[in-house]
Amino acid sequence: MGCLYKIKCPNCGEDFEWNEGPGAIADVLHCDRCGKELWTTEPMMEFEYIQCPCGGTYDKEVPIICPHCHQELSKPRKYIKDAVLWD
Ligand SMILES: [Zn+2]
Ligand SMILES: [Zn+2]
Repeated sequence: MGCLYKIKCPNCGEDFEWNEGPGAIADVLHCDRCGKELWTTEPMMEFEYIQCPCGGTYDKEVPIICPHCHQELSKPRKYIKDAVLWD
């Protein structure tokens, strides 16, 4: 079961959404530098070391990164406004 978080960035005040997997069919990776999403239905092993155009690497265990100011948001995730589960 994946989860879609709706977040208000504490650094720049912008709203953004952040998906976390894995779901039943698809999983989601994030760039460790800019936070961009990459959806995949392939096994995770196939996706190691995939480069993002920004120079970062897509990974499963990426901290939440604001796509607007590129700041990492620390846990606990007190900035999450809402969370929606998906398959
Ligand atoms: Zn931000
Ligand atoms: Zn990137």
